[in-house]
Amino acid sequence: MSGSNDITQAIKDIISRARARYIKTGITRNISIAVEKYLRNNATPAEISTYAIGSDNINLIRTLLKSKRPDCSKCGAPLKLSFNVLDQEGRRFPTAFECVQCGLVCYLSHTLPELIKVLLNES
Ligand SMILES: [Zn+2]
Repeated sequence: MSGSNDITQAIKDIISRARARYIKTGITRNISIAVEKYLRNNATPAEISTYAIGSDNINLIRTLLKSKRPDCSKCGAPLKLSFNVLDQEGRRFPTAFECVQCGLVCYLSHTLPELIKVLLNES
């Protein structure tokens, strides 16, 4: 497992710092504005590049899933991608495909960048 560079977790950390600094203090109620301000005023260069890579990855996976979103093997509905998912035994998976229709969950050990590579190689 390569859980050390979990980009979605790093982004969540940045968002929670932005929330603490700009939302909890009442400066704004909009999380995108809070993140923007945080990146401009408070973020370290490492955080800025992590956030840029992460947002690129999230945009890329959205585009990829538009053309090749997997369908549920049970009911055929399109599956929804989730991040940092716990299974019933409390094990954490970096990504998972979930069926909103019938509740089927397909847990993946791929991190977001790994999943992008898999989807790109399938074409
Ligand atoms: Zn289903």
